[in-house]
Amino acid sequence: MPLTFLSEVGPLLLFTTGIPLAGVLLFYLVLEPFLENRQRKRWLKANRTTMRSLMVLAHLAGRLRERVEPCPHCGTAEPEFWEHDRHLLVLRCGGCKRNFTLSQRAYPEIRLMLRLMPALTLVLMQIRQGPGSRLAAHLRHCCRPFTAYLKRIP
Ligand SMILES: [Zn+2]
Repeated sequence: MPLTFLSEVGPLLLFTTGIPLAGVLLFYLVLEPFLENRQRKRWLKANRTTMRSLMVLAHLAGRLRERVEPCPHCGTAEPEFWEHDRHLLVLRCGGCKRNFTLSQRAYPEIRLMLRLMPALTLVLMQIRQGPGSRLAAHLRHCCRPFTAYLKRIP
């Protein structure tokens, strides 16, 4: 009896649940990653200049980190990028969390960094638009020297 029931209902069951389920799986496993990936590539292509500036900015930040004197309070040599205005860069000690300000005259990197800062702002805005997306993950990876700054800005 149950066997005949199954053979009668089976095909119907397959059509009513199997096919929509396959559709949903297809969407989440194949189509959605594909569309998101395409969107990510498009954004990166359209914002090529920004991404180039960001690369230079990250490189300069790495160089500055190596060159800046260790913290005068605790001796830690792990400055984090913290804040900036048109002429000044504020770093924060990774050890004692005290801030110190550098003028663009202190290190030649700073002048160029301050000029490229709009690229970081633009990328930050994009990350905020879709924090869970692949694009945001990629951008966060590109902004590694500025992680403290990205977390700080609400
Ligand atoms: Zn310190």
